[in-house]
Amino acid sequence: MSDDANPFESLGTQIDEAAQYLDLDEDVLTRLKNPERVLETNLSVEMDDGSIEVFRAYRSQFNGDRGPYKGGIRYHPGVNRDEVKALSGWMVYKCSIVDIPYGGGKGGIVIDPSDYSEVELERVTRAFAKELRPFIGEDKDIPAPDVNTGQREMNWIKDTYEKLENTTAPGVITGKAIESGGSEGRVEATGRSTMLASREVFDYLGKDIEGATVAVQGFGNAGSIAAALLDDLGATIVAVSDSRGGIYNPDGFDVRDVKSFKAEQGAVGDYDDTAEQLTNDELLTLDVDLLIPAALENAIDKSLAEDVRADVIVEAANGPLTPRADTVLTEKEVHVVPDILANAGGVTVSYFEWVQNRQRFHWTEERVNDELERIIVAAFDDLTTTFEETAAPNLRTAAYVVAIERVANAYKQSGNWP
Ligand code: GLU
Repeated sequence: MSDDANPFESLGTQIDEAAQYLDLDEDVLTRLKNPERVLETNLSVEMDDGSIEVFRAYRSQFNGDRGPYKGGIRYHPGVNRDEVKALSGWMVYKCSIVDIPYGGGKGGIVIDPSDYSEVELERVTRAFAKELRPFIGEDKDIPAPDVNTGQREMNWIKDTYEKLENTTAPGVITGKAIESGGSEGRVEATGRSTMLASREVFDYLGKDIEGATVAVQGFGNAGSIAAALLDDLGATIVAVSDSRGGIYNPDGFDVRDVKSFKAEQGAVGDYDDTAEQLTNDELLTLDVDLLIPAALENAIDKSLAEDVRADVIVEAANGPLTPRADTVLTEKEVHVVPDILANAGGVTVSYFEWVQNRQRFHWTEERVNDELERIIVAAFDDLTTTFEETAAPNLRTAAYVVAIERVANAYKQSGNWP
């Protein structure tokens, strides 16, 4: 299990590593490591039985030097202030490496949504939207889905905001259903960029993605779609898991079938009687060509990293490797494509959704996917160029060098006021 690195400290370590390759003043560095502000609120919500329950919720606005704050809202019992701060910082550098005009933010509610009815979840979500209303807006801060939230929650937030503001403002939130102003391709976008980043890194390393063996930890939106799209490229998905455990079959799975099974039955574990059952830690240490952590932070700590046998890791989750795991994997010459690039498809298509909302114009799925591919490929080229130029120890540090430099330059251009 994890060495329980504090994600906010991990973010600081990642920034410090990259700062060695940049000429930054100490005060600028401090600014780049800390959020501008964090909203902490307690939502009092009526339950179906008439009782009142109080939910702790946060929104961290980390940095707005490159544009409005941008980032998802997660519903999870493990949400806490430092996690939300870290996730909001990762959003800043994610938006920067793919060069879209946003800063970074993140929100979360301490809740296990599976314990509540749909009506209760709607009340919780609308209560949070009411608290967020003064802080969000199409040009201020634009939330989106994250762990355990999706189109349903986004539509509730949009509706609450628009009714309270007495206006229409579809661009106040992204990840909406198509009928509410959502974009084609948004649901698949995180998995799609994970696939594109995998394809690019294999190409960069002179390896073949066709026939490569792949293990995917986490079979939610990002993991299941990345698996399906990698399968389309001819890779063999030999293992998948969810929070309850995983399955392994050296001949590979029909991932779309596993996905529909999970949608109906709730867990991948019972999918195939003949498949070998395995724990998440066993999956993460399988001897595969490509490992995709697609669940939560800190999935791979230092001691697990020592047992990792994959050649390449592409991070679909945010923060799945602790900094100490990173050090071990760098020594072992395991190539890691960092989260801020690999999973940036989500926020990139959120950006397309926002552009479409502002223009009141709907793009085709083909256009969305083409523009996404162009952006991810360009970002991967920027990353590898900097990796070679700086001789940074790994791709993560090189990614932060690119991303931090852009944010620091934007800050410099604006000047420090007040
Ligand atoms: N929650 C996603 C992420 O971590 C998407 C954020 C967005 O679309 O703004 O990147």
